[in-house]
Amino acid sequence: MFNVNNSNKENLVGQPIDLQLLLKLPAYRLHMKWDTLPENLKTSPELQSHLPCFEHYNRPDREVHIDGPPPSKSKCRACKRSNQ
Ligand SMILES: [Zn+2]
Repeated sequence: MFNVNNSNKENLVGQPIDLQLLLKLPAYRLHMKWDTLPENLKTSPELQSHLPCFEHYNRPDREVHIDGPPPSKSKCRACKRSNQ
C-alpha cells in the first residue's frame, strides 16, 4: 500500500511568514524585510514596535549617535518615556 501524503507537499511550497519568527530578528533586519512582508503582518502593533527607532537614534540633526544599528522601538528609552 502506498501512502501518498499530499499535505506534506503543500507545506513545503507555501511557507507562511511567522510573526513570532520575525519578532526574534534584530530590529534592523526586520526593517530590511519590511517592504516584502504581507500587509496583514505590517498592521500588527507588536511587529511595528519591533522596528528600529529612527526617531531617536542616528538622527544627524539631534546628534544622537550610538554605535551600531538603532534598537527596536520597544527597547528605545525615549519611546518608552513618551508612552508613559
Ligand atoms: Zn524611540
